[in-house]
Amino acid sequence: PVLRVALMGLGGYAQRVADAMKDCKRAKVTGLVSGTPAKLKEWGSKYNVPERNRYSYETFDDIKNNPDIDAVYVITPNALHHDNVIRAARAGKHVICEKPMAVSVQEGQEMVDACAAAGVQLLIGYRMRFEPNTLEIVNRRNAGEFGKINFFQGQCGFKIGDPNQWRLNKELAGGGALFDIGIYAINGTRYMVGEEPVWVTAQETKTDPTKFKEGVDETIQFQLGFASGAVASCLSTYNMNYLDRFYLNGDKGFAELWPSTGYGPIKGRTHQQPLNHPHIAHQTIQMDEMAAIILDGKKPVLPVDGTTGLQDLKIIEAIYRACATGARQELKLV
Ligand code: NAD
Repeated sequence: PVLRVALMGLGGYAQRVADAMKDCKRAKVTGLVSGTPAKLKEWGSKYNVPERNRYSYETFDDIKNNPDIDAVYVITPNALHHDNVIRAARAGKHVICEKPMAVSVQEGQEMVDACAAAGVQLLIGYRMRFEPNTLEIVNRRNAGEFGKINFFQGQCGFKIGDPNQWRLNKELAGGGALFDIGIYAINGTRYMVGEEPVWVTAQETKTDPTKFKEGVDETIQFQLGFASGAVASCLSTYNMNYLDRFYLNGDKGFAELWPSTGYGPIKGRTHQQPLNHPHIAHQTIQMDEMAAIILDGKKPVLPVDGTTGLQDLKIIEAIYRACATGARQELKLV
């Protein structure tokens, strides 16, 4: 069987997902949700979605009666994920939600609880968790090739453009660079080191308070510590280019990804050899794998469930607390 997906929020990233899904073997776009009638019409004819499977935010709850749709993929601005995911769950549909899953731990927890109560799955759009070069490093680390892991470095950022976009509006974005791009360093630290952090320290710098208003972080450096003794050092920024790099160091070797989380091709090497998996659109692989998770109960090498997403939010809140207080924050992640 094929996972039949309704895309909600027909913006830039939804476009990329819809195009990549044309190459999926197990997933298909069968529904659309948008507040703009013209987009529903245009996307409907482009992706062959019949009128009966097109919804506005007003009619969306009727999706519960639609047998052509198994899952809703929420691709709206961050602060809307919470309500959108809960509505989809209450309509009895599985939910795929873009990162960051929400703008607070409390909202994230409510989403996990609502999906559990509705008996539907909640998966977060962590496309890198399915990327072949990334998974090769994870598998080699698990096989002991790098020895005991000591250190990870994650640098994630770009110079953001238009000062009026929702990404720079705390109400819609939840924060600044950390919620949008720094989350890749947080999530990457967790899958590269292979452990959950037990403490975090962080420092914020802001060079442009006009563009990056109160509550919208421009640049944050943060450090994470692990029970094994490993440490990580990361950079999240909206004001520097050429930052998309992961470096993992162990007693017996190292692995590097550069670029590490962009749309690809992802490139990298270990102390022994280059990583050469051919490039396939990340969203194509992600949606085929998510279909297998939802339809076949497949257990992925790296989980992408709601609880995994919630850990990132707990770390994000701790990083903001560390910036505000200057004090090290202890983390208790299950
Ligand atoms: P975008 O601005 O291009 O698209 C957002 C869409 O949501 C637009 O079509 C907009 O009309 C719609 N929308 C619905 N209600 C809205 C409201 N009240 N205010 C503003 N817009 C509203 O943004 P995007 O880049 O597509 O990002 C959407 C989500 O996808 C974000 O959560 C983002 O973090 C995530 N994203 C993930 C990746 C990834 O690689 N996984 C990449 C880009 C974006």
